[in-house]
Amino acid sequence: MILKTKLWLLLVVSAALSMVLFGCSSVWIGKIANKGYALLELNPLAHSIVDSIDEQPELGKDTLKSILDGAHEEHPSIRFLWMDSNGQAIYDTTGLNPNFTFRDLALLMQNMPEGYLKNDEVNILTPVSREGETYFMLLSLPASAMKQGEMYFLIRSHKSLLTLVAPLILSFSIPFLLGLWIFSRINKRIRKLNNAVNQLNLQSNSPVAELADSSKDELGQLARHYNSMAQRIHSQFGEIQQFENKRKLLLSNLSHDLRTPLTTMLGCAELIRTGNYKDQQELHTRAKIILQRCRYMDKLLDQMLEVSRQDEEDITIHLQNHNLSEIIRKIAVEYIMILDGEQVELDVEMPDEDVQLLIDASLIERALRNLLDNAVRYGKDGHYLGIELTADDQAVNIIVKDKGKGIPPAHQKHIFERFYRVDGGRKGEGLGIGLSIVKDISLAHRGTLEMNSRPFVETRFQIRLPVSTPV
Ligand code: ADP
Repeated sequence: MILKTKLWLLLVVSAALSMVLFGCSSVWIGKIANKGYALLELNPLAHSIVDSIDEQPELGKDTLKSILDGAHEEHPSIRFLWMDSNGQAIYDTTGLNPNFTFRDLALLMQNMPEGYLKNDEVNILTPVSREGETYFMLLSLPASAMKQGEMYFLIRSHKSLLTLVAPLILSFSIPFLLGLWIFSRINKRIRKLNNAVNQLNLQSNSPVAELADSSKDELGQLARHYNSMAQRIHSQFGEIQQFENKRKLLLSNLSHDLRTPLTTMLGCAELIRTGNYKDQQELHTRAKIILQRCRYMDKLLDQMLEVSRQDEEDITIHLQNHNLSEIIRKIAVEYIMILDGEQVELDVEMPDEDVQLLIDASLIERALRNLLDNAVRYGKDGHYLGIELTADDQAVNIIVKDKGKGIPPAHQKHIFERFYRVDGGRKGEGLGIGLSIVKDISLAHRGTLEMNSRPFVETRFQIRLPVSTPV
């Protein structure tokens, strides 16, 4: 059942229940809380007394006295008075025995039932005919002896109920109608939200449609939360898709990247095997090419391994106190050999005193090698490679610099993303994960990785490691 139908049902049932409840409770409470005589009870009471007097064979004063006193005993607040047709009291339970003129009687009766409402006396005059004579019985009681709150006694016929019920229905229906109006508005907004959630298409490239609901209530807040959530999911979905596309592209290029050096290596190896080289110099060159290609393929395979490892787990580090200056010296020597014969100046700057730090040496070495490999690979044109170690009270900085073509500003903010490559992943020798690994290693040491690049002036990567215990 939809909410609207439920609400209508609720409205009808609750309106009917309210009316019944009102009727029953007003009668019931009237009976319990309203002590006294009801106006409609007085006539039957008068008639029952008149009937019991009428049943007597003789209408003597004693008979009247015993019946009327008996009735007065039963109803002490009521005065019972029996009079003849001239208005002369024959018996009066108050003992006053007045003589009523026609005017007195008319005055007694004239204010009925307003007298009752105005808190005067209530008088009921009942005529009795007996043996050709006419008598009257006056039943008189103070209005305070009547029920104080009794609406339904005023209803003469059921038709008059309508006059009572119509305003009642009207007043009852106002809160219901207001409730209905508010509910249908809320229902409309919920339906809009429902439709928006239903139509949310994360895969489409078009932007997510915003839900317009500026109100400050809970539904407005929900709509705003939905908008920001949808935006977030949509952009995250886009990022995941982009990431997946890059990954697919790189893996598909990988077979090509592996085959190219393999062809070169096969050519060189064949030349060496057949002895078709000109001199020792060519033999040396061919062997060097094979070595370079082997290193390159080795590196590619390492990176592939790294990709799958990064998918599986976060970096775990094992910290120990190490001489960072020593580590950098060792790596610098390696690169002197690698750069042998290349026209690249290698500049190493370190503090005079050795720098000791709590680090995972193998991870820091890996990070440094990644940065140096990049500087050699992409910054060779600058003919300069710098390694710098600085230390202050708070941190130790490992800096790798080159003066090559650098990284264009548009690419700089993406450069630490996995699989991101400036050349779009086709040319060059890598999977685009080297810098993301360096960043992960820096973060694992609670440090940072920063980059500044001015083409052919300086491209600088700086790992900053805090001196205090990093984890
Ligand atoms: P890979 O070297 O495997 O492509 P990296 O994450 O190490 O992956 O580097 C990402 C990209 O950043 C490289 O493709 C390269 O375009 C650019 N890059 C990194 N270091 C340098 C540098 N020193 N000079 C110029 N470009 C660089």
